[in-house]
Amino acid sequence: MNKTDVRTLQQYLRENGTYSGKLDGIRGPRTRAAVGATLEAHADTLPEDAGTWSDRRRTVVCLQLACRERKIEVGPLDGLWGPQTEYAADVLATIHRTGKPPVPWRDQTPLDVNPNGWPREAELRQVLGSPTRKPPMVVVPCPWKLALAWDLNTCPTGIGCHERVADSLARVLDRVYDHYGPERLMELGLHRYGGCYNKRRKRGGTAWSTHAWGIAIDWDPAHNKLKWGRDRAHLAGAEYDTWWQIWEEEGWVSLGRTRNFDWMHVQAAKP
Ligand SMILES: [Zn+2]
Repeated sequence: MNKTDVRTLQQYLRENGTYSGKLDGIRGPRTRAAVGATLEAHADTLPEDAGTWSDRRRTVVCLQLACRERKIEVGPLDGLWGPQTEYAADVLATIHRTGKPPVPWRDQTPLDVNPNGWPREAELRQVLGSPTRKPPMVVVPCPWKLALAWDLNTCPTGIGCHERVADSLARVLDRVYDHYGPERLMELGLHRYGGCYNKRRKRGGTAWSTHAWGIAIDWDPAHNKLKWGRDRAHLAGAEYDTWWQIWEEEGWVSLGRTRNFDWMHVQAAKP
């Protein structure tokens, strides 16, 4: 139980009228008194020996009560700080902050369809040829203004990719533009283009990268670093759900959505 959790508890105590102090995340005397009053009011729902528990354990059980009142699954009211209580406290904090529970990311299973018949990564060499030869390239114009992620003053007019994926990429870009519009795309950082064709091996691996065939694109790499998971990567946010859905409907694969790393990367090949 950290300061944020104590603050969440204090906000609950304030809402139920037992606490009028600061939301400072400190278990001081006023917080302890408010916890005491709240536990007394709910004595019938608590284990009989709860009166003998330590201050810390009574604070935890009070936060568990707060979660239960909001219908958050918190497990037994035992005053013990386990993973279920910790997660429930996070949910309660999100409700306090936004008025809504967090978006259930585990339910957002990536769509797995393949309308364009993208190859599997393991067969890329057979299907598209050796990655050491430059692939047949086409530049697909981008309907919104792009800027190179590492040099924002350079604004490519399109994305150079393998000719095999060009039509699909054009459809994706059009749909994305129709959905979000230029201003929102800029706000979301989707103008920060991280490159497509690049004759290189996988970072942190020995196999050829899908970039070497010009069938993968990186977006906003500074805010979606290779090893970042959904807790840090911008592109994991709920505001990008439609973005990913549009790619996935064309069979493209997000490594972030399927494996929770390299959220910048989307590819026209099945892993
Ligand atoms: Zn990439």
